Amino acid sequence: MMHPENIRVVLVAPSLAANVGAAARAMKTMGLTDLHLVAPRQFPHEDAATMASGADDVVAAARVHATLDEALAGATLVVGLSARQRSLSCPVQDPREAAEELLAEAGERPVAILFGRERTGLTNAELDRCQRLVNIPANPGYSSLNLAASVQVMAYELRMADRAGVRPQAARSEWPPAAADDMERLYEHLERVLMRIDFLDPDNPRALMRRLRLLFGRAALDHNEVQILRGILAHVEKSLADPGRY
Ligand code: SAH
Repeated sequence: MMHPENIRVVLVAPSLAANVGAAARAMKTMGLTDLHLVAPRQFPHEDAATMASGADDVVAAARVHATLDEALAGATLVVGLSARQRSLSCPVQDPREAAEELLAEAGERPVAILFGRERTGLTNAELDRCQRLVNIPANPGYSSLNLAASVQVMAYELRMADRAGVRPQAARSEWPPAAADDMERLYEHLERVLMRIDFLDPDNPRALMRRLRLLFGRAALDHNEVQILRGILAHVEKSLADPGRY
């Protein structure tokens, strides 16, 4: 059974209200309801309701957030749809593969599916938040779908995966997987300590933090493991502040 209340569709900074409405319609036709908008440029706006047609309830219930952090709070699996490939990247899936994993996780906990701006897509910092990139294998000579069209493709695959009867994953540990906000706090803490011990040069960070995100992303940490790592970092900070004690 699909758990639509656990499947967040997150549109990051959409420019056009018409696309928000069309995305809502794409969602509702496939049984999805939980729409989140991060800093929309044109919302609320009558174009959204017009394009939504009978899905104006999804538009009306949409949650508007100032930041992506807010939209991702509590999500334990975050995937981002991107028309482009990147060189240093988390695993790339097609919508079918992604749908299976998303549905399995959404049986237990919230997941988030990110879609980018009409013109420029998702930024690198936004893609860094994702544990999976989802690429719709389109025409290589013209691969950029309309925003709402890509929501439709993803929503359709979720519905098909649901019809095929995807089962919840067996729990990997007694602890729940780390949520997006826990991971973000871990990365901030790690970055602070790495700068403090001169391992990370803020003037020349290279891709160190991205590589560490990929490393910890592969490890798929649970909530307790994040607390252990945070505890280690806190002790590093303490020993730096009071070297005589150690
Ligand atoms: N020119 C932008 C495309 C933006 S299209 C770019 O180069 O990224 C708006 C959004 O629709 C994208 O951010 C992405 O979330 C989704 N999208 C469009 N085409 C896609 C594709 N082929 N695969 C995956 N997502 C796609």
